[in-house]
Amino acid sequence: MKKIDKPTFKVKDILTDCLDNMRSQELKQELLDSSNVFTAHETEFDSRKKDHTLSQIKQDVIISENANATELKKLYTDRMLNKDNKARAYYDSIFLSAPNGKCPICSQRLVRTLDHYLPKSKYPLLSIVPYNLVPSCHDCNKDKLVDVPTKGEDETLHPYYDSVESESWLKSKIINLKPILFEFYTSPPLAWNKLLRDRISNHFSVYLLNDLYSTHALEEFENIKFQLTSLFQKGGTDLLKAHLADCYRSRFEVNKNSWQTALYECFLMDNDFINGSFI
Ligand SMILES: [Zn+2]
Repeated sequence: MKKIDKPTFKVKDILTDCLDNMRSQELKQELLDSSNVFTAHETEFDSRKKDHTLSQIKQDVIISENANATELKKLYTDRMLNKDNKARAYYDSIFLSAPNGKCPICSQRLVRTLDHYLPKSKYPLLSIVPYNLVPSCHDCNKDKLVDVPTKGEDETLHPYYDSVESESWLKSKIINLKPILFEFYTSPPLAWNKLLRDRISNHFSVYLLNDLYSTHALEEFENIKFQLTSLFQKGGTDLLKAHLADCYRSRFEVNKNSWQTALYECFLMDNDFINGSFI
């Protein structure tokens, strides 16, 4: 999971631009007059996200019969998403904030959309709150569809609020040598608080990251098998181990918690593997 800087613009900025060319002057005025309600929801989201108490935010809150859930959700679907709307610039800014265009949730696939951290179907007043909008790939967006936390542990990692890159917590093990199969799992430092450790584990499970990473790991192994076999036949365990240690270190320097780092660490830690049993 990659940390991203929080957007610097506010929901009030997005709302104003969303309404720029709205036909219904009555609805437009009512929404503009309610900008403090949007701001209050933005502030509540921000403070509850920091406290991991998002489950306390009331669901299905609307402004009025006129400014109802459908109209509030349309601010996102019909306006912020619309390429001809002034507010599209905010959508694009969040979309492009992910480093290298990679989804910060899985760190693997490309960003294709924005994910509502709390779903707009349950929280229509959060549909255009920037802190609730996270760049995401299609799969991560789909895997968490209409997911509502009922307790702090349910809150998956949020790229604007969680920083978990300083220490190693993604691990992998070989669960079958022939044919080779890998399993990825989380093992955060015990010094981290239990809530964060549980949230990392939940994040990993909600987004099916073991399925994603173990598939890539299998392909990586197939690509390097010939090379590893040659090294082992030439210099035995010592040469193989030295090569794998270099591969591991090189990946660790880039990202302590990439599937690649976890994979090379698991090769090194598996005695059967470094003794050539994969051949
Ligand atoms: Zn993703």
